[in-house]
Amino acid sequence: MTGKVLVVEDEQKLAELLRDYLRQAGFDPFCLAHGGEVVPWVRERMPDLILLDLMLPGRDGLEICKDIRTFSSVPIIMVTARIEEIDRLLGLELGADDYICKPYSPREVVARVKAVLRRTGGGQTLHSSGLVLDEPCLQATLNGHDLELTAVEFKLLQFLVANPGRIYGRQQLMDRIYPDQRIVSDRTIDSHIKKLRRKIEEVSPGADIIHSVYGVGYKFEAVQPDE
Ligand code: CA
Repeated sequence: MTGKVLVVEDEQKLAELLRDYLRQAGFDPFCLAHGGEVVPWVRERMPDLILLDLMLPGRDGLEICKDIRTFSSVPIIMVTARIEEIDRLLGLELGADDYICKPYSPREVVARVKAVLRRTGGGQTLHSSGLVLDEPCLQATLNGHDLELTAVEFKLLQFLVANPGRIYGRQQLMDRIYPDQRIVSDRTIDSHIKKLRRKIEEVSPGADIIHSVYGVGYKFEAVQPDE
């Protein structure tokens, strides 16, 4: 099994130990020690799994987990130093995929990482605002309804959804969608976006999730669940 695993742990010795074990098991581990660094890192580098310590300097694991779940379904394993904390965490429905209690054996952690990745299919499904984008099947559903997207529309939507709130110009989107540098007019993107919006509108009238930014390009804006 392979994959980029982000280890968020402020005890340096422990972080190094985990890093070594994960590397030996074939993973590509990265370590962060400060809570404030995690969300920007995840947005930028999108790991395949996150081991997230609960007590961290800067920002605690609870807030980080909630924040990540607003834009990504990357598998998260929460790590806590107190066994009695796990019940409380479960009750909070943070969207973490598993919980591990300290002290643990690094071997056990590696086994859990593998189990979670197997169960979640390596995090290749994106969830946001009622949208589920299943990459292996190229299937997109919104609130349970199939959007029946073409492969190009799927890729376009997937890219925007994976980078919520960021504005992309037509050229940037074309580079993503047509990496073989096929010559296409930049109006092609507009036409794909138009079709995407129409399909979204058909399934969920008023679901305004792809926004045009006049003169610049497009962005995806996650819809917050009703308060
Ligand atoms: Ca800690």
